[in-house]
Amino acid sequence: MLRTALRRALAVLFAVGTAFGLEAQSTAASPRLYVLDGGVLKSETARYRLTDADVEEVELSVASFLIVHPRGVLLWDAGAVADRERGGPVGFEQRLLRRDGQERFVKLAPSLESQLKAAGYEPADVTHLALSHYHWDHTADANTFAHAQWLVPKLEHDAMFRADPPGGTRPETYSALRNSSRTTLLTGAEHDVFGDGSVVIRQAHGHTEGHTVLYVKLAKTGGVVLSGDLYHYPAERTLNRLPTFEVSEAETQAAREELEQFLRRTNAALWIQHDLVAHRKLEKAPEYYD
Ligand SMILES: [Zn+2]
Repeated sequence: MLRTALRRALAVLFAVGTAFGLEAQSTAASPRLYVLDGGVLKSETARYRLTDADVEEVELSVASFLIVHPRGVLLWDAGAVADRERGGPVGFEQRLLRRDGQERFVKLAPSLESQLKAAGYEPADVTHLALSHYHWDHTADANTFAHAQWLVPKLEHDAMFRADPPGGTRPETYSALRNSSRTTLLTGAEHDVFGDGSVVIRQAHGHTEGHTVLYVKLAKTGGVVLSGDLYHYPAERTLNRLPTFEVSEAETQAAREELEQFLRRTNAALWIQHDLVAHRKLEKAPEYYD
């Protein structure tokens, strides 16, 4: 309660500061976008209807993002290995079991909490949580953020908590969200998180029932779309290939076409979250994009 009041007071102060030109340059506050490294995921290109020759790197990055806005702090995606289940130091190859029994391997990056702290934030400071979708490599630390307002498409929420959840999930990683009173079920094509158009969740169904991408409008960097798993490899985009495990290939195809139009219209850049080559080049927290 006190914490919320304090945050609101800070937001007001920030707004007042901006109104009096205390903030350098522009009057519109730009969010800050922090890139959090979730390690390296072993992959097989055949799952994406590609061959190793089609890609520069077979392994995939795992990424989460912290978006800091005057009206709140949004975590986008929650990693592949929860901090509390880490089996070794940075570089350790962790084995994970999906709900359907398939195993996956992730080479550990520093813990999510340590990266948040490096940027100056505690998990308790995160006010909003959004997951691009429910697959295990995007939900690992979701339970840590059960205090935050969870923005989730109704379709995705229904699939996550049905009697027989999808095989690519690890339901234990998001179980604390189940009875959260702080859940906002999304039903529209877009959800403007902070009400000023700078952080927008966009429907991009198909990979899962309610898969989404995130548009972030940054003052200096420009517009950025965080892909979720609409693509994994850049070659999916250039060669027009779909993964073999979509909930709806037709919906993914339509979502890709819609997003390409959006990118052209807004001149935004697409950041493919699993693209290891691009991910390596991004500045990581505590550095940020604004
Ligand atoms: Zn993924």
